[in-house]
Amino acid sequence: MPGLMKTTSDITKTNILGYTRETLRAKLAEMNIKPFIADQILDWIYKKFKLDFSEMVNIAKEIRARLEEAFEIRFFKNIETLESDGGRATKMIITLNDGKYIEAVVLREKKYNTLCVSSQCGCPVDCKFCLTGVAGFKRNLESYEIVGQILLANQLGHPISNLVFMGMGEPLLNYDNVFAAINLMNAEYSFHISKRKMTVSTSGYIQNIKRLISEKNYINLAFSVGHANPSKRVVLMPIESRNPIMEVVALLHEYQTMHNRKLTLEYTLIQDKNEDDQAIRELSNISKYLKAKINLINLNPHPKIPFRPVTTKRLHEVRDLLENSGVPVTIRFRKGDDISAACGQLGESCLG
Ligand code: SAH
Ligand code: SF4
Repeated sequence: MPGLMKTTSDITKTNILGYTRETLRAKLAEMNIKPFIADQILDWIYKKFKLDFSEMVNIAKEIRARLEEAFEIRFFKNIETLESDGGRATKMIITLNDGKYIEAVVLREKKYNTLCVSSQCGCPVDCKFCLTGVAGFKRNLESYEIVGQILLANQLGHPISNLVFMGMGEPLLNYDNVFAAINLMNAEYSFHISKRKMTVSTSGYIQNIKRLISEKNYINLAFSVGHANPSKRVVLMPIESRNPIMEVVALLHEYQTMHNRKLTLEYTLIQDKNEDDQAIRELSNISKYLKAKINLINLNPHPKIPFRPVTTKRLHEVRDLLENSGVPVTIRFRKGDDISAACGQLGESCLG
C-alpha cells in the first residue's frame, strides 16, 4: 500500500493532507506552480487513493520532484485489520505517526458501507460503561487523521458512503478538527460524502452544542442518553454534573427547530441500571419532545466494564414499551462483537 506505511516524517516538509483545494492552490501559486496542479493532486489522493507523488503521472516530472521536496503525504505509521466472523465488520487498528493507536470500523450493509470513525485517541468523558472511557484520554486527532480513516477504508477496498462519529472519542470536544474533516470529506474534490450521510454522536457537551447553534452548523446528531433521569445519569456519565441533560435537551430542541437534519437518541441498555419501566418512560418523553428516533444498543460487555447487558427478552420488551408509547425505535445489532469492533468497545488496543 504505497504511501500508507511511510514512517519517515521530515519536519521541514508540510503534510499536504492539511490543505483544502483553496489553500493548496494558494500555496502552489506561492511556489510558482500552476494552481490547477492542486486539483490534480487532490484527485489522485481522494479519488484514486494514490499517496505517492511518483504515481501522479499526469503531473510533469520536475514538478513532482519539487512537490516531493516541499510536501509529504503523511497519514499513518501502520495498519492492522481484523475481520469479524460473519464478515460484516472490519476493524482497522491504526498506529498514528506518534505511535499512539486509534481504531475505526467498517460496517457492511447490503448496499453500502458505513465507517465508524474515531475523533480522539481515547476519550476524557469517562462514561462508566464505555471501554474508550476506561482507556483514558491521549489526544485530539488532527483533521487529516480523521480524513485518513476514510481514505484507508477506501484503499483497503471498502468504499464508504456513510459516516458515523461513534468510534473513539467525543467529537464535540474536538470541534474544529472534526468539522474541518467533515467539510473536507463533503467537498466535491474529495470524497463528496453528503452531510446527510454523516452523523456526529455526542454525550452532550453543552458549550459546543451552543456553538453548532450559533454557527448554524447543521449536521445529523446522535445524543447518547445513558439515563434520562439526571440523578441516575450522573452515576453512569459524570459529564452530567456540568452538562445537565435538561439543558442539553433544551438546546437540542432549539437546534432541531433550525434545520431538518436527523436527531437520534442512542440508549445503551445496562442490566439493573437504566432498563426499568420508569427509566424507559422518561426516555420516551424526551424522544417525544425532541421528535427523535431511539436507537437501542445492548451493552457490549468487557472484563474492564463493571456492567452487564440486558437479556434479549428484556431488550425486546424495552423496544415494545417504546413502540407502544408511540416513539420510533430500532435495535442496533452488535456487529463484529467477536473482534471487539462494536461501538463502545473501541479502545482495546489503547489498554496495552
Ligand atoms: N463519544 C460519543 C461517540 C462515541 S461512543 C458519544 O458518547 O456519543 C458511541 C456510542 O457507543 C455512544 O452512544 C455510547 O453510549 C455507546 N457505548 C459506549 N460504550 C458502550 C458499550 N460498552 N456498549 C454499547 N454501547 C456503548
Ligand atoms: Fe467518550 Fe462516548 Fe465513550 Fe462516553 S461513550 S467515554 S463520551 S467515547
